[in-house]
Amino acid sequence: MMDSEKTKIPEDTFLVGIGASPGIGIGVTYQVNRQRMTAVERRIAPEEVPFEENAFFEAVEISKSQLEEVKAAVTGNQLAEHLYIIDTHLLILEDQMLLNETLGLIRNELINAEGALKRTLRKFRQVFDRIEDEYLRERRSDIDSVGDRLLRNLMGESQQSLVEVDRKVVVVAHDLSPADTMQMDKERIIGFVTDVGGRTSHTAILARSLGIPAVIGLETVTAMVRDDVPVIIDGIHGTVILNPSDATFREYLKKKQAYEYLEKELLTYRDLPSVTLDGDHIALRGNVELPEEVILAQGQGAEGIGLFRSEFLFLNRSVPPSEDEQLEVYRDILDKMAPHPVTIRTLDVGGDKFVPEINLADEANPAMGLRAIRFSLKERRLFHSQLRAILRASAFGKIRLMFPMITGVAELRDCRDCLEAAKAELVAEGIGFDQRLPVGIMIETPSAALVAEFLAREADFFSVGTNDLIQYCLAVDRGNEHVAYLYEPLHPAVLRALKMICSAARQAGITVGMCGEMAGDPLYGLVLLGLGFDELSMNAPGIPRLKRLLRQVRREDGVRLLDELFKLSTAQEIARYIEEEMGRRFPELFSAPPI
Ligand code: PEP
Ligand code: MG
Repeated sequence: MMDSEKTKIPEDTFLVGIGASPGIGIGVTYQVNRQRMTAVERRIAPEEVPFEENAFFEAVEISKSQLEEVKAAVTGNQLAEHLYIIDTHLLILEDQMLLNETLGLIRNELINAEGALKRTLRKFRQVFDRIEDEYLRERRSDIDSVGDRLLRNLMGESQQSLVEVDRKVVVVAHDLSPADTMQMDKERIIGFVTDVGGRTSHTAILARSLGIPAVIGLETVTAMVRDDVPVIIDGIHGTVILNPSDATFREYLKKKQAYEYLEKELLTYRDLPSVTLDGDHIALRGNVELPEEVILAQGQGAEGIGLFRSEFLFLNRSVPPSEDEQLEVYRDILDKMAPHPVTIRTLDVGGDKFVPEINLADEANPAMGLRAIRFSLKERRLFHSQLRAILRASAFGKIRLMFPMITGVAELRDCRDCLEAAKAELVAEGIGFDQRLPVGIMIETPSAALVAEFLAREADFFSVGTNDLIQYCLAVDRGNEHVAYLYEPLHPAVLRALKMICSAARQAGITVGMCGEMAGDPLYGLVLLGLGFDELSMNAPGIPRLKRLLRQVRREDGVRLLDELFKLSTAQEIARYIEEEMGRRFPELFSAPPI
């Protein structure tokens, strides 16, 4: 079946990228040309200005109508909930900065439309590149994809549409825009691979929601293949095999069947309660960055939102959202998730996250700088309006308020004082809110872990942010690839910090949850159960898998496992122990032979 004569690519050529959407796809390649357009800048004579302006306006209009077409094709089908992505692209096409900046360059600097647009896009990209947060940085892909569309239309290049694909293929592209992904019909496009991209790009989010296996960030795949090369893609492990041998083909066919069987089985867990064999209930909630993702969380059976990263409402705009605008968003999320709770984390910006209208000084060490709650306590006006919006929303459903990056009790008291001031103001204005609004904190710093005992007396709940806790605990920048090998969730120091936090919460009788990425990895499920977590909040697609696991274990299994782990002195030993234990208990989840 797999004809190795078709191509010069050696048999079983193995490529490693990022697994953006799980699943296994077996088929042949289909190249889609999405190479970035190269615009040529050229000086123009003053009399050419109107011509170039018109060309630019025309390209904008053509781009808009293309996007409207995608929108019409998608409306009413399963992707309708993602229409916001197309709307975002349409909004970018109407962005006054983009239009005026480009027109200004044509008129004042006498640069051709292509060149002017290229310069404007470069400026936009630079702003995004300064953002260290991976998720936000990847929002740049929206600008890139609109920019490419505009340039293509300006240069008279056609857009190869994925709707035209008429057979079962694995799409190979340099990059794919969310609009491309939305046009993918699962019946025909059995997977895609790209040179660029990150796990949290919209394209990756959409692929996960469509259930199309995807491996991205392969760097050179488009340079290696042409059409009709036999290919296997494994979106679980982020691997691609070009020109597979018969043995490999048979091996992956089995894996594919096993995976699809497991996925079907997992769907049956969606509406089952998340309880252990001994009757312990562990609430599995969703992490949400964009309000639109709430639907995804709901679809996976999330028992509410455990982390709404509210800073996303404040980014990519020149003016922060007003109190009323925030209220609308919070209420909408509450409505969608009712009767479950929604945990709103106050602004976590500064340092690594960029707020356009506030000029923060450049910091030498932003991770330890004016970020998160420190920023809110400095920019009190902004903090005050967010607290008022959250309080007002609390009149309409179960809201939980959460402060990020708390380092000690004094800081928490300061936050509580601000909250009391906002409450007093609302009372004076006769505006209702939930008088018993739970006020929790994120435990993300070693100092908070060390004084958890005191913090637990003054907070209503804890939520452990392991993404930061691990970075600060181990002194390993979470975004630095050079020290990524040291970023170890299972480091004995991390496990001890987690134990300390959970014990403090237990002693004070408050709930303790986790909302860092560690919470969504089923490998850690039993450990987290043993530590005593009451809630785990994660990217929604991880929920059914973890629920299935939790329903097959007892809390005491976790406690016993933990006892053994605490005897081990390195992260490697601990990881090996857990992998063996979990592989033995859940061979179908963890014992797949390494690929
Ligand atoms: C964390 O630090 O684990 C967390 C959930 O917050 P963020 O990833 O937004 O910093
Ligand atoms: Mg954090």
